Amino acid sequence: MADGTSFYITTPIFYVNDAPHIGHAYTEVAADVLARWHRQAGDPTWFLTGTDEHGQKILRTATANGVSPKEWADKLVSESWYPLLDTIDISNDDFIRTTEERHETNVQLFLQRLYDAGFIYTGEFEGYYCVGCEEYKQESDLVTGTGEYVGQPVCAIHSKPVELLKESNYFFRMSDFADRLLALYEERPDFVQPESARNEVIQFVRQGLKDLSISRSTFDWGIKVPWDDTHVVYVWFDALLNYITAAGYGSDDEAFAKRWPATQIVGKDILRFHAVIWPAMLMAAGLDVPQRVFGHGWLLVGGEKMSKSKLTGIAPNEITDTFGSDAFRYYFMRAIAFGQDGSFSWEDLSARYQAELANGFGNLASRVVAMITRYFEGVVPPEGEPTEADLAIRAAVAAAATDADVAIERLAIQDAITSIWRIVDDLNGYITVQEPWVLAKDEEQRERLGTVLYTAAEGLRALAVLLSPFMPKATETLWTALGGADALGPLTAQPVRDAGTWGQLPAGTTVNGLEALFPRIEATNE
Ligand SMILES: [Zn+2]
Repeated sequence: MADGTSFYITTPIFYVNDAPHIGHAYTEVAADVLARWHRQAGDPTWFLTGTDEHGQKILRTATANGVSPKEWADKLVSESWYPLLDTIDISNDDFIRTTEERHETNVQLFLQRLYDAGFIYTGEFEGYYCVGCEEYKQESDLVTGTGEYVGQPVCAIHSKPVELLKESNYFFRMSDFADRLLALYEERPDFVQPESARNEVIQFVRQGLKDLSISRSTFDWGIKVPWDDTHVVYVWFDALLNYITAAGYGSDDEAFAKRWPATQIVGKDILRFHAVIWPAMLMAAGLDVPQRVFGHGWLLVGGEKMSKSKLTGIAPNEITDTFGSDAFRYYFMRAIAFGQDGSFSWEDLSARYQAELANGFGNLASRVVAMITRYFEGVVPPEGEPTEADLAIRAAVAAAATDADVAIERLAIQDAITSIWRIVDDLNGYITVQEPWVLAKDEEQRERLGTVLYTAAEGLRALAVLLSPFMPKATETLWTALGGADALGPLTAQPVRDAGTWGQLPAGTTVNGLEALFPRIEATNE
């Protein structure tokens, strides 16, 4: 937020070594909801995602598949990663691949600047390396293997043996930055979030930092070190720089100044890279550190972290083919507190789909549009003098809009959607109590009937606007049904921070028929 209002958000860039699973999609959706919210609030917004294509792991996978690493990356990006973004409706502004020239050139520029400033030296290094993590491991990060690897030291994340490597490498003087990092965490308590993640990072840095080996000479799939082409840049050092090379570092200073620093969403397993190494690199280069680094939790399936290597990976389209992309987006944002681990189950997904989306929201929308069609020939009636019940709905809508915006500022996505959903619940209760179908039988109650249906329609107007960042397709359908596009313009142009202001949908607007927003699902995935 360099100028106080702009919003630059990033996801981690994903390794192209395998196909996307729902854990990746979860991260993308969270960042997308935040980006769409800010865009709809009128904040200059820029949303970056991409792929990490260098390193030994990719080289090995490509070789095993009989292709060059670049061919491997091209194939995975076009067949898996771009389609993922369509599958779950991601509105990214840019997609960076670390094999692009705009990235490689400016990684070299960055490195050369650090070298010239004396932050890089030559040294010997020996340690246990996990190729899965692309990281040297401390002894405390290792556990004793079981099964196939019984008795061997294995990576705690990958459950696979580590390799003892010895290299002559270039080192980044990261140890110089421990005090400055601790001061940063102190001065800006929201720099690392959530709180549990922040505490862990502080504990880690308090133990002191070692210098970081930032080059490799045992393989050549990477960006060449500019002053020594027998070395390639360590893949993490290369990958982290995507957040600035894509934003214009080295190529478009004006764009870079506007965008950087970013809000950075990462999985908690890579939090240290983003909350320790990354700000130290930026400090060394004299650049701003990120706006904030948020470590979200893991998705658990049957109690285990979602990952393809553990065979619990579920492809996002397995869910969207049945439930649709909106339900996917809603489910993960609603069911899991952002920042904590969350369990995925088909049963929970099906239950929430039926209760909350189909019966709660979808049915509400269908009934209200149908009653306006039946009782007022499809024209939104004017509202008369409001009763206490009507005023309660107005107050609920205003409160939901305010609470949701405050929650989004805190990156508390689940709180935001929970606040908005109070409108759904309150409107359903309101209609049950007001019984418009009874009012419709009495000509004397014509004005009252109009007030009730106006209140319901205007509540739906607010819901469409507020839920648009979460469920872009269903809300677009609802917007059309409400006649919103003709009366008020495109849905995504409705300022989300004004959504709680009552009375925006003009009486006299013509509604259109509404198919079920969330159709009944017959076959269940058991
Ligand atoms: Zn590992």
